[in-house]
Amino acid sequence: MADHYDVLGVQPDASDADIKKAYRRLARELHPDVNPSPEAAERFKDVTHAYDVLSDPEQRRRYDAGPQADSPFGGGAGGFSDIFDAFFGGGGGGRGSGPRSRAERGQDALLRIDVDLDEVVFGTHKEVEVDTAVLCETCNGSCCAPGTSPRTCDICGGSGHIQRQVRSLLGNVVTSAPCGTCRGYGTVIPNPCPTCQGQGRVRARRSIPVDVPAGVDSGLRLQMPGQGEVGPAGGPSGDLYLEIRVRHHDVFSRDGDDLLATLEVGMTDAILGTTATIDGLDGPVELEIRPGVQSADVLVLKDRGVTKLRGNGRGDLRVGVQVVTPTKLSHKERQLVEQLAKSHKATKPQLARFQQGMFGKLRDRFFNF
Ligand SMILES: [Zn+2]
Ligand SMILES: [Zn+2]
Repeated sequence: MADHYDVLGVQPDASDADIKKAYRRLARELHPDVNPSPEAAERFKDVTHAYDVLSDPEQRRRYDAGPQADSPFGGGAGGFSDIFDAFFGGGGGGRGSGPRSRAERGQDALLRIDVDLDEVVFGTHKEVEVDTAVLCETCNGSCCAPGTSPRTCDICGGSGHIQRQVRSLLGNVVTSAPCGTCRGYGTVIPNPCPTCQGQGRVRARRSIPVDVPAGVDSGLRLQMPGQGEVGPAGGPSGDLYLEIRVRHHDVFSRDGDDLLATLEVGMTDAILGTTATIDGLDGPVELEIRPGVQSADVLVLKDRGVTKLRGNGRGDLRVGVQVVTPTKLSHKERQLVEQLAKSHKATKPQLARFQQGMFGKLRDRFFNF
């Protein structure tokens, strides 16, 4: 650790006034609100620590006396600050950490977006309206009116902390609390930016492009890094989460990557078989219906379902057959059916075991959204 006098650029016999003057000069140059570079932040910490020690008569006397007088823990010039941190919650939040920055990370934002089932099949592109905090363009996040800058806080001298000497079992110790005047920032803003009232950010509506991948389902959240709220004083943005809600579809429902629908087939088509053209979500599909198809038969169309979110390919389209019995027949039709009945010798209606699985299951499946 460098010598505290060197750090402040003063002679070892400098007066209290000289030390204070030197510190204020350096604070104006190195304070994080003025100079955002990490090297400046590091130096400002050192400068503030040196000032903390040398501005306190008791600490300065002990510092001048050298390390051996420091403490029973010994250990060179660094010993003092280590012990201090140990007692007063060092590790960043403590006294040596200097003023805190006004800039903080912004909050994450959550938005729900509705997509149609046919958009889910292949994915879609959407423009989403977002209402969040954005960087104030007048002050660029500095919080200051144009042409003005933050001023070093008079009360704490820019350190962001106020120190008090307290008598304790350890002797005279110095406690440190955030400065109430600058709220720990080390600077005050004499002329706040009029656009953002000194917040460095404003609320705004904007439209952002979103690629919704194929295969998403309700409840899934898409993360858009850096598209959330800009932080106070232009701090880094939080993330935006888009929660997907898939709209109900009148015909198709979904079972994982498969699509489900019911196909109503007329009695004669069911008997004779036919080829049907059905409207899939991605265009017409030919469907072969074999002669003698039964209600609750499921016809599977491979790779006509939803594109898989993870992995390749698509699910299937499963079509459950429901045979529709005609309810109104003309006189002639009725005669034809009666002829058929005589020649066909159909089995008489007879009881069989109740098949839980058949129609009930189909309905449950298909109407349970
Ligand atoms: Zn502003
Ligand atoms: Zn202050």
